[in-house]
Amino acid sequence: MTNRASKVTVDEDYCAGHGACVVTCPEVFKIGPDGYAVVLVDEVPAEMESAVGRAVEECPTQAIGWRD
Ligand code: SF4
Repeated sequence: MTNRASKVTVDEDYCAGHGACVVTCPEVFKIGPDGYAVVLVDEVPAEMESAVGRAVEECPTQAIGWRD
């Protein structure tokens, strides 16, 4: 069993709050009270990794990143 990085973060300094990530993966992202995306899960479930990967690629400001 592999155990690779499965956590994801949003950098508020870069997030523009458009919500593309929320559309792509609403189970993991939502727009918080400050108008920036927040991550809803501590660890990304395996079945959502591909959707989160798409959100990472599609974020227009590259605010989302994987971390260990
Ligand atoms: S897609 Fe990127 S810029 Fe848009 S809300 Fe999500 S993290 Fe922020």
